[in-house]
Amino acid sequence: MDRRNLDRYKQLLLEKRGEMSVTIAEAESPIPAAGGLRGDPVDQANADAEAELQIHLHQTDGRLLRAIEEALTRIRNGTFGTCEACRNQISRARLEAVPWTRLCRDCKEHPVV
Ligand SMILES: [Zn+2]
Repeated sequence: MDRRNLDRYKQLLLEKRGEMSVTIAEAESPIPAAGGLRGDPVDQANADAEAELQIHLHQTDGRLLRAIEEALTRIRNGTFGTCEACRNQISRARLEAVPWTRLCRDCKEHPVV
């Protein structure tokens, strides 16, 4: 992969990482207790479900953030854009959409178990 494309993907990754950091900072801020002490049981149930959703989002963000960091490392190592399973070049369209991916489309869709 040429230098210009590499820089472009690096930029995409850095941008995404910036977005993720903001999301995580928001997720970590205390969740206000919706309804408070006077909330009826239905409100409380909704608040619980919302809190769980936020925790779930937070975990997903953490994984994605790690994937982005790993992709940035691969750019430094010069292995970016190569499928980790079959060693083929990952298509440009796929890298545009998910620059932090480690697998080409074939390997992602048909993982060798
Ligand atoms: Zn592959």
